[in-house]
Order: sequence, then structure tokens, then C-alpha cells
Amino acid sequence: MPRQEISQPDFTAHKFPQMVVHCPSCKKPAGVMCVRPSEHQATQPHAARGKLADELFIEIYGPDASIDLTPQGYVIDPTGYAKRLAREAKECEQEGAEARS
Ligand SMILES: [Zn+2]
Repeated sequence: MPRQEISQPDFTAHKFPQMVVHCPSCKKPAGVMCVRPSEHQATQPHAARGKLADELFIEIYGPDASIDLTPQGYVIDPTGYAKRLAREAKECEQEGAEARS
């Protein structure tokens, strides 16, 4: 069951969804972009931050959900990941069928 007692972090509020959590690598707080060791702003959030954000995302939205970048910004699809897996499985099946024929 998703946790309800905490206010839900908004994964779509920032330039990168990972920014919803603090960064374990460069210690920047939630909402603040990662910096490189030189203190220059990084172009991508650190991998450790991504992992942390992933875990939180799955805890809140479940393993079937995904977050997708659209022209309107990030959108959370409650079944996006499940749909992607199903699509990939189908593609594999088709490739297998083609290889056998
Ligand atoms: Zn960082």
C-alpha cells in the first residue's frame, strides 16, 4: 500500500524528477540541482540521487508506474512501466517468431 501519512513529493515539479530527493553524492537538498566537485552545476543529477528517487517513486506509485517526459513536462503514468514491459515482451516474441520463420 502506498504511504499516505506524508505529503507526497511532486516528481514533476523540477527540471529532473530526481531533484525531488536530496542528493547523497553532492549533498544538495531536494529541489536544488546537483553540483560537480568544482561546485559548477552538473548537467545531470548524480546516479545515487536517481536511485534514491527511483525507490521513493516505486514506494509511492508502485512498481508498475513510470514517469515520462512529454512536451508538457513530466507526467506520471500509473501503469506506464507495466505497459512498457508488456510492449517489450511482445517485441521480443515477435523477433523470436521472425527468427524461427
Ligand atoms: Zn548530486
